[in-house]
Amino acid sequence: MIPGHGNRQSRHCHHCGRVVRDTVHTRTGYRVDFYGLHTGDVEPVQMQHGDEGETITILRLIRPYEVFTCVDCYAQADVQEERERLFRPENLEAAAAAGTER
Ligand SMILES: [Zn+2]
Repeated sequence: MIPGHGNRQSRHCHHCGRVVRDTVHTRTGYRVDFYGLHTGDVEPVQMQHGDEGETITILRLIRPYEVFTCVDCYAQADVQEERERLFRPENLEAAAAAGTER
């Protein structure tokens, strides 16, 4: 088993560590216990782009995994920020590169 890659039997909240349960469906609605986020480790890759042959940097996904967030943590602002960072790692890279580029 890949570390950090939850299976269906033992999914834990990435933030507080509690076990999260599947969404419960009833006749009148459903109750969500967690939110899943597909993300992964990335590495920057240089590639040629367009007619000018301009070199751009893209991020290649090297190890995908899923992050689970329980509903309690999901309500917290810092957890929302962390999820946003995990969801868009390129934003971090862009911010880091902005000071040094060209
Ligand atoms: Zn949690």
